[in-house]
Amino acid sequence: MSGLTRKQLLDAEGGTLLKRSGGVRVALLYPNPYSVAMSSLGYQVVYRMFNDHPEISAERAVLPDDVEAHRRARTPLVTLETGFPVGGADVIAISLAYEPDIANLFTMFELARIPVLRSERGPQHPLVLLGGPITMSNVLPLAPFVDAVVVGDGEPVVRRIADLLATHVGRAGDGLLDALAALPGLYVPSLHGSRVPDMLVSPASDLPAIGQIWTPHAELSNMMLVEASRGCPRYCTFCVMRAAAQPMREAPLESVLPVLDSPAPRIGLVGAAISEYTHIRAVLRAAIAAGKGVGISSLRADRLDEEFVSLLHQGGYRTMTVASDAPSQAMRGRLKKGLRGRHLLEAARLAALVKMVQLKMYVIIGLPGETDADIDELIDFSLEMQRIVPRVAIGASPFVPKLHTPLGDAAFTDIEVHERRIARLRNGLHGKVEIRSVSPKWAWVEYRLSQGGEETGLAAYAAWKAGGRFADYKRAFRETTRDERRALDDARVHALWAPAGMK
Ligand code: SF4
Repeated sequence: MSGLTRKQLLDAEGGTLLKRSGGVRVALLYPNPYSVAMSSLGYQVVYRMFNDHPEISAERAVLPDDVEAHRRARTPLVTLETGFPVGGADVIAISLAYEPDIANLFTMFELARIPVLRSERGPQHPLVLLGGPITMSNVLPLAPFVDAVVVGDGEPVVRRIADLLATHVGRAGDGLLDALAALPGLYVPSLHGSRVPDMLVSPASDLPAIGQIWTPHAELSNMMLVEASRGCPRYCTFCVMRAAAQPMREAPLESVLPVLDSPAPRIGLVGAAISEYTHIRAVLRAAIAAGKGVGISSLRADRLDEEFVSLLHQGGYRTMTVASDAPSQAMRGRLKKGLRGRHLLEAARLAALVKMVQLKMYVIIGLPGETDADIDELIDFSLEMQRIVPRVAIGASPFVPKLHTPLGDAAFTDIEVHERRIARLRNGLHGKVEIRSVSPKWAWVEYRLSQGGEETGLAAYAAWKAGGRFADYKRAFRETTRDERRALDDARVHALWAPAGMK
């Protein structure tokens, strides 16, 4: 863990919950290293919600920074708070962000000495629950490994789950899974098969979601995280956050401002469309008046002006991050992004005006209908930006079609085409603009997990056991071609979310 001991990590934290009472032990797993885990607001919210229950004590466990060293030491995975072995918990509750983290989940099961497959676990093993952002897309590949999944927002049901755990855990065979399956948004694979229930959507009254822990060792360092809005009012056709699936919900300003009373030195404003939050400027002004640093998870280029950007700068924000999401204006139009090149150029001008250190722009490549001409437009455009802001970085991600979006049934562009386009981009920029790209090979693994069913999950497990290299996934997925779009097909069969998200 960051090369630091458990004690050193705990000593550096503010907000740690150390609960000695509570009959049911819940280990909260985050299948990523500590610095990533402690930058997840959802993980922290569930940590507090479980610990709020008088009968439950919840402790965190994260992926060790050096997994091989942990394996060599032959020590079991333990919780951060008290060093309790994860394998001895009554319940394991996992927060999973996105598809490739499934391999880390297998590793954590291994280190905790718990059988990875649900079918190989017995009453002596913990009950395994799962939630997190991945559930907004496709949970079927996870079905062989978990007992129940919270699909969508957790807040509406975590308290009810905690009540069920408090009354059922330790009383074998008394219908806990049936009781969980009866809750809204709970998917119990052994009872539901491939029929995944509709996603839970928190009402605005559940907002703001506020973090619990701040630490210098998080990626979002020393920040009290706050989510003042959830969802997004836009309709981008590739995005699971779009308005058709989840209307944007907002917290009133007066319920957000108390977060400034936290002793944390910085405030982290998170949310898919946080720059569109009605009171965002008022929050920023109040944070700066209170002497807090600020961080913000995403910016819509067309929401920026001098006041907004200089407030961010006063709060210590130094890298302006915006999303173009497509390499060209024509592709942005097809994605219904609602942004034009002039908005991005204005963002660059504002970044230069307040002397931001860097401008980072996210782009998706390999979109349906994309050609080399779109990449050439991105090259010219990036160089134009770089003439305004000396340090520009492009974050290029291959397009991975996600379920429940209008582009959910689009093809995944060949890996070779992706690689060629990234090379074209890199060559065209002559090192003047930094490129960070997600590997097309691993994006393909993500695609398969985003669209596949149980067999795809089992294939991922086989690949992990074989060593977890790309060739292992390729080999394992080759056997499951009939399962390639199983989740999409099942969603159609069951008419799940069809009116909201799919064509
Ligand atoms: S890509 Fe961004 S702006 Fe578009 S729907 Fe998703 S969150 Fe909203």
